[in-house]
Amino acid sequence: MTFLFQSDARRGAVFAEAFASALPDLAFTRDAAKVDPDAVRYLLTWTTPADLARYRNLELLFSIGAGVDQLDLAAIPASVKVVRMVEDGIQRMMQEYVLMAVLALHRNLPAYLASQRRGEWSPRPQRQASERRIGFLGLGNLASAAIDRLKPLSFPLSGWSRSPRTIDGVSCHHGEAGLNAMLATTDILVCLLPLTPQTRGILKADLFRRLPPGAGLVHVGRGPQLDQAALLACLDSGHLSGAVIDVTDPEPLPKDHAFWTHPQIILTPHIASVTQPETAARAVIDNINRHLAGKDPIGLVERSRFY
Ligand code: NDP
Repeated sequence: MTFLFQSDARRGAVFAEAFASALPDLAFTRDAAKVDPDAVRYLLTWTTPADLARYRNLELLFSIGAGVDQLDLAAIPASVKVVRMVEDGIQRMMQEYVLMAVLALHRNLPAYLASQRRGEWSPRPQRQASERRIGFLGLGNLASAAIDRLKPLSFPLSGWSRSPRTIDGVSCHHGEAGLNAMLATTDILVCLLPLTPQTRGILKADLFRRLPPGAGLVHVGRGPQLDQAALLACLDSGHLSGAVIDVTDPEPLPKDHAFWTHPQIILTPHIASVTQPETAARAVIDNINRHLAGKDPIGLVERSRFY
């Protein structure tokens, strides 16, 4: 039995070492050209390999990232379980980023950075955290982890998911009616949704209009969820006050894109969170052990939902 690792060499070295000690009977290779395709039971990859069909005995396909929108799910045989990355390292990085971004908007950082560039010393009124309502689109692994970090700061917290969820200290909503209710009471909206046919383009003019005037956006989901022109129009009209954007479409943005220089936008190059090899190797090993014990892996993708 073989585990075929198709990601970068640095992560590969960490995985190889972890696999050698935890799963010594499983062959680990990074070399697709030399592998016996019939021996490959497990594959870790970012995109769907063009020659996937040669791995006739594949059982689990692991995404190296938390999202699976980059995979062509239709090209993966139904018998293969697709697993997204659920691991501590990626959660910790997302916690840091969302905390940073929420605090940046809460404390008017885009406006102060613009003042600094103009050489202006201009203090602004400051709302208390208990008066700044944070709403999450998506209440999955990463949003729940980020919420844990925000809780001690006394922001009122709410979130929206596809199915009903209960999270202590969080006002949870679901479905279209739930979305309306949450948006109306959200001052900083954090998008942590997977990219699916349902969420593509969700951050659009109609959604922004339902936020209270002066609201901010933190976008850490996927670029194609955002209507960029609608965001720019809402920032320029003053309906939205600022945005922290980590994901765009395309990535990178063209050199002349308005996001690079917009005074109310803080732009980062899709770095909110990255799979950490040590913790990811442990998570993948645990999932192989679960699979061998007849259990579903953590992070199993439901193909009909696209996440
Ligand atoms: P999960 O699958 O754990 O959570 C997804 C959440 O979104 C769930 O709460 C789910 O609802 C909700 N959701 C999905 N579709 C809908 C919908 N149509 N309507 C309402 N709610 C919906 O994912 P993760 O938290 O692990 O990751 C979320 C996303 O974050 C990834 O898919 C990826 O796109 C992005 N990401 C970004 C990174 C970055 O660096 N910027 C890094 C890593 C991930 P329910 O609870 O009902 O299932």
